[in-house]
Amino acid sequence: MATPSPAPPKVSQRPPQKGNQNQALKKRIIKFCRDHGADLVGFAPVERWDEAGEVAPDFRPRAVWPPAKTMIALGMEMPLPIVETTPSILHKELYDTSNRELDQLAYDLTRFLNRLGHASFFFPRDGYGSLKALRENNLAAFSHVMAAQYAGLGTIGASHNLLTAEFGPRVRLVSVFTEASLPPNPMIDKELCIKCSACAKCCPKGAIRMRPDQVIADYDKAACLEMTEELTARRCYPCGICTKVCPIGKDRSLYKRTKAMKKYLQEGAALAKNPDDPEYKSWTHVRKYGVSKSRSPKDQKEGNP
Ligand code: SF4
Ligand code: SF4
Repeated sequence: MATPSPAPPKVSQRPPQKGNQNQALKKRIIKFCRDHGADLVGFAPVERWDEAGEVAPDFRPRAVWPPAKTMIALGMEMPLPIVETTPSILHKELYDTSNRELDQLAYDLTRFLNRLGHASFFFPRDGYGSLKALRENNLAAFSHVMAAQYAGLGTIGASHNLLTAEFGPRVRLVSVFTEASLPPNPMIDKELCIKCSACAKCCPKGAIRMRPDQVIADYDKAACLEMTEELTARRCYPCGICTKVCPIGKDRSLYKRTKAMKKYLQEGAALAKNPDDPEYKSWTHVRKYGVSKSRSPKDQKEGNP
């Protein structure tokens, strides 16, 4: 009697293809990040930095962590009505909370991937210890904005912020590096910035100067840092006015704030004329509490910011 040949394995029993494994891992990562609070998740192969050639070699992922094969960019929303109160204690607290949450998410994802056998590493969302450090060298060792752009989360606008379809520039970012090869997100090929110049017009320091020949404006880092120093002294850092006024983002529809541009553009002049202008009352009310109007005499005496 002939020996029956073994039945062919069912499809589900066949060893999965590597591509399928990577796709499955990507789905797991997205679910993990969503469950841990991420609003946006994108994937970029590290080769994109080399192909684009925009970022200096020392600032590319493999220079920061040589085993990296994929960058995972993670974003969290900054809710528009809170951003609109800037500069305020509300905006400062939101900024601090988003930073903590982003670092926690990146730390958790790094350990999640390590447990699955994919060595990983993360770069915290902000990388400076003091304003003095920024004054001496106003550059980060790694750009989350570039990582998010290469991971397909958005495009860089005139204001140098990452603009996303979901939240415009009202999003905070962090990056996880992993040695796992994961399917990339396509990059967004259409500029989201419409060059409306609202960010340049509303910047209190004139730090953004629009350029006719390109989307990304000239940016005066020293002027923006001066604003940071002033607001830090009053304990209501960061500024973020350029993120507040940007018309891009579906969050504007959610909050029914698609027609706020006139109000933004007139705010400075209106409040200079009448600090209690009723049109701005909800914002100016919040700004009056929880922050100092100027440096304390003690800070001034000790030369603190
Ligand atoms: S953060 Fe403020 S000071 Fe800096 S560029 Fe934006 S609007 Fe100007
Ligand atoms: S405010 Fe206008 S010019 Fe500035 S980044 Fe947004 S869309 Fe671009």
